[in-house]
Amino acid sequence: MDHFNYEKGKLFAENMDVEKIAAEVGTPVYIYSKATFEEHLRKIQDAYSKLDTTICFSVKACGNINILKFMADQGSGFDIVSGGELYRVLQAADEASKIVYAGVGKTDAEIVEALKADIGYFNIESEAELENLIRLAEQQGKKTRAALRVNPDIEYKTHAFLATGKKETKFGVDIERALRVFAEYGGNTSVNLCAIHVHLGTSGKKIDPYVKAVEKILPLIDRLRSLGHTIEALDLGGGYGADYESDTVPSAAQYAAGIVPLLKDKNLKLILEPGKSICANAGIMLTRVLYTKQGGGKRFVIVDAGMNDLIRPSLYDAFHFIWPAKVAQKLVPPQRDKSLQLEGTVVVDVVGPVCEAGDFFAKDRALPPVERGCLLSVFTAGAYGFSMSSNYNARCRAAEVLVDGDNFTVIRKRETYEDLIALEK
Ligand SMILES: *Cc1c(COP(=O)(O)O)cnc(C)c1O
Repeated sequence: MDHFNYEKGKLFAENMDVEKIAAEVGTPVYIYSKATFEEHLRKIQDAYSKLDTTICFSVKACGNINILKFMADQGSGFDIVSGGELYRVLQAADEASKIVYAGVGKTDAEIVEALKADIGYFNIESEAELENLIRLAEQQGKKTRAALRVNPDIEYKTHAFLATGKKETKFGVDIERALRVFAEYGGNTSVNLCAIHVHLGTSGKKIDPYVKAVEKILPLIDRLRSLGHTIEALDLGGGYGADYESDTVPSAAQYAAGIVPLLKDKNLKLILEPGKSICANAGIMLTRVLYTKQGGGKRFVIVDAGMNDLIRPSLYDAFHFIWPAKVAQKLVPPQRDKSLQLEGTVVVDVVGPVCEAGDFFAKDRALPPVERGCLLSVFTAGAYGFSMSSNYNARCRAAEVLVDGDNFTVIRKRETYEDLIALEK
C-alpha cells in the first residue's frame, strides 16, 4: 500500500533509511514517498480509463509545490479551495484547464484570479455565488464554465466534521433547487453552467454512498438535458478511503467497479477529486522521543512533534499507526492495526509538548518500549498533516522531505525563529 517498510528492524522510505534523514534534517519532519504518490495516482487513472476522466488531486490535503509539480507531470489536475491554492498550483503546473475550484466562500479577488487563470470549472455552492461569478466574469470580459454542487442527501459514515453530503450542511444545493438554478442561470453566456459536482465527505470506507449518489444524480442530469441544458461533466468529488490501518478500505479498482458501469455511454466526462486516497499513506511524520514519564496509572511518551504539526488526532479523533523507526526483528509490525498486540510491548499515551490537554497522537497504545532519543514514525500522515500545521506555541513548522528511490530532497525547509516574526517587524 506504500513504500514505508522495515528491513532488518529499520524503517525505510523507499530505499532511504529514515534515521539518516532525521540525522541530517532534524525532527519533527514529514517524509513523503514519490513512488507512493505516483502509484496511487496511476491506479486511479487506470481504474477509470474506460471513461473520459480527469483526476484533480485535492491540494488542501498536501500542497507542497514540489509535489504538485510531479503530480502535474503525471497528468493530474487539481482541486482547489482558495486563491492561495490557485497560486500554488500555478507555480507547479503550466496550464490551468484541469483546475476545479470549490468552496462556499470565494471572495471577489479569488474569483477574478481564477477567471484570469482560465481554470476548468468553478464549482458553485449557491445562487448568490453564481450571480457574483456572472457579474465578475462580465466585468472581466471572461467566459468560464461552472459545475453546480448538488447535495444528494446521502448518508456517509464518518466523523461529524467530515460529512458534507447530507441535506443540512452548508455545502451545495439540493436536487429540487438545482432544477431552479439551471432554469434561471442555465442560459448565461459568460458562465456556462454545464456540469454537476458532488462531494460527499471524507474518510469514509464504503463504495455504496458513491453508487447511491450517482443513481440520484443521473436522473437529474437526464431531466436537465431534456429541458435543453447541456451537461458535459460530472464531478464526483473526493473522499475515497485511505488505509490508515492495513487493507481496510476499497481499492481504486473496487470504487471504479461500482461507479464506471453507471456512467458508461452517458456522454459525460468524469472528474474525480481524490486527496487522502493519493497522499495519506504517501507520507509519515518522524518525531523524536524527548522524555518518558509515569503519571497516575499511565505511562507517557513525550515527543518533539505536537498538535500544531499534526492536528488530526486532536481534531477528528483520527487514528494514526505509530511505531519506532528501529526495533528488534520480532517487533517489526506485521500490519498497521489499531489493536496490534505484540509480545514485549508496553501500553502508553504518545503526547506532544504543546500546552493543551488535547495535544496527543495516541492513547493507550501498545508500543515497543522506547526511551529518550528514539525515533517514532507516525504513519499515514501525508494528508491533512503538514497542510493543517500551524505555529501555535510559537513552534517552527516542520521540514518536508521527498524521497525518490535512493535520494531525498528537502522540499520545504524547517522554519526558523526569524520566520516566526518576519511579518511583525
Ligand atoms: C477536501 C475535498 C476533497 C478531498 O477529500 P479527500 O477525502 O482528501 O479525498 C475533494 N473535493 C472537495 C470539494 C473537498 O473539499
